[in-house]
Amino acid sequence: MTSSTRTVPGSLDLRDRSRAFADLDRETFDVVVIGGGITGAGIARDAALRGLRVALVEARDIASGTSSRSSKMIHGGLRYLAQGDVGLVREAASERQVLRRIAPHLTRLSPFVMPGSRSMIAKVRAGLVAFERLGKVPRDERHRTLDATELLELEPTLAADRFSSGVVYPEFLTNDARLTVANIRSAVASGATVLTHAAATRITVGGNGRADGVEVAGTLPGEQLTARARTRLVVNAAGPWVDAVRALEAPDEPARLALTKGIHVVVPHRRLPVRDTVITLGPDKRPVFAVAAGPVTYLGTTDTFYTEPDEWPRIDASDVQYLFDAMARTFNGPPISPDDVVSLWSGVRPLIAPSEGSDAAPSELSRRDETWVGPAGVVSVAGGKLTAYRTMAERIVDDLVSDLGTGSLRCRTADVPLIGGDTDVGGLTEDLGGSLGEDAARLVQLWGSDASSIADDGGDVAAEVRFAVCHEGALRLEDVWIRRTARSWFTLEPVGTDLDVAAATMAGLLGWTPERQAAEVAACHTIHHDARRCLDELPEGAPAPVA
Ligand code: FAD
Repeated sequence: MTSSTRTVPGSLDLRDRSRAFADLDRETFDVVVIGGGITGAGIARDAALRGLRVALVEARDIASGTSSRSSKMIHGGLRYLAQGDVGLVREAASERQVLRRIAPHLTRLSPFVMPGSRSMIAKVRAGLVAFERLGKVPRDERHRTLDATELLELEPTLAADRFSSGVVYPEFLTNDARLTVANIRSAVASGATVLTHAAATRITVGGNGRADGVEVAGTLPGEQLTARARTRLVVNAAGPWVDAVRALEAPDEPARLALTKGIHVVVPHRRLPVRDTVITLGPDKRPVFAVAAGPVTYLGTTDTFYTEPDEWPRIDASDVQYLFDAMARTFNGPPISPDDVVSLWSGVRPLIAPSEGSDAAPSELSRRDETWVGPAGVVSVAGGKLTAYRTMAERIVDDLVSDLGTGSLRCRTADVPLIGGDTDVGGLTEDLGGSLGEDAARLVQLWGSDASSIADDGGDVAAEVRFAVCHEGALRLEDVWIRRTARSWFTLEPVGTDLDVAAATMAGLLGWTPERQAAEVAACHTIHHDARRCLDELPEGAPAPVA
């Protein structure tokens, strides 16, 4: 059986672009969502599951903004405790249990090990005890303190002489882009219309002064297609671009966002062989981490103000050096150096700007979400975290339902599994392991139950690409490389032969000319090499650790 003959729920095939634009033009929707990151995807799924007529338009690809650039953690919310935000702690702690239920493939439990001095660990413990009580953390998932010997048993790469104790507690790791794709496909399964690579260019306003439509224009190379989606309500979920989309409604309104940049550095796992996740402190005492992810370990993250909502925020040598310094203080062996770096990624957090005159540091800005209703009734949403996207969507859709006057329609997103989530992850991995060996675990972690379709189709790179194009709306090589198959940052050879195989498969499926195929490959190389450029400014070989 191939992926095209098995029934695929929530299948999204956007290759017939004229038809996709016509679909948007034809209907009048209850809600049009602008932005296909986790915020927009979560809102679209919730609204569609409640029976509303929903359209979602995305300027580039699903999760192409911040929602593929996060640290990929489903936080319990410990850090919000330090900010005194008890509500966020409760929400984050309970949300990770919900996500584990509806998307077991996208919630990988990982022990987080934090080494430190006795006094520091005593402080962290006090926070953890409060967090576990507030978050109703099950007994078998509570923290454990460690002496120096236990610490090294768990993470042998730690610099033994520098830490007298530690603590270990469980958190979840996810794949942010795949979580977003799963939400989008779940929305499609409930009847939503989704169009990607189509930017909202204008919000139209009816005689009553209310927004009544969104005009979109295709953004694929050489594309001239446009459409107008008529609607009763518009939601602006454009992440770092929320202010730009607000300007389509009201050009003179003041900006509401503050952006902060975070980067991640990927090194071979053998170079920093952490067993799970190690949390340590950066030179400025912010928490930073090293996460084991198959063949690589990723290090993150930074938090610095950034002015422009760039698609690929610039990575500076100082960002990388900051992480190198933190790792050099924490681990044994020769410090990580530019020669070790496989790849890097950066993203910006769309946070709510603090009040004028505030001197808060970037990491002190609240991670709470906020919504604003503009003069034509457009609902804009920003802030928040990947972790709590579902409850944020629930609150917003509750308001939309009340605006539409449709009576109370119950939110079902905590009960219905996400696409791919209706599976026993361990059992499926074992089943597919017979034919796919070690690749089975990767496929199941990324696709959940859909891994069976890909395995039936051969389970190789080309099969992944066919599934991504025919059922997950991928239209550019970058969509597959970064966001559907996670090959850009989680393999040792990100721009190797797999990329060429993927390009050739896509060319066949999308009718690309040889020139277009070459341009798509070149675009991925550019993303990869641009991110690495800052490494040239760092000293070669091992940098001296900062004392
Ligand atoms: P985005 O994902 O940016 O989505 C907005 C979308 O709108 C984009 O895809 C964009 O292309 C589209 N768009 C823009 N303009 C238009 C237009 N005119 N028409 C149509 N579409 C448009 N959270 C956690 O819970 N855990 C973490 O570990 C974590 N780590 C993080 C680390 C870093 C470095 C960063 C930057 C963030 C992290 N976050 C984390 C926060 C989390 O990633 C964000 O809160 C979340 O991804 C924001 O999603 P969004 O949908 O609001 O924005």
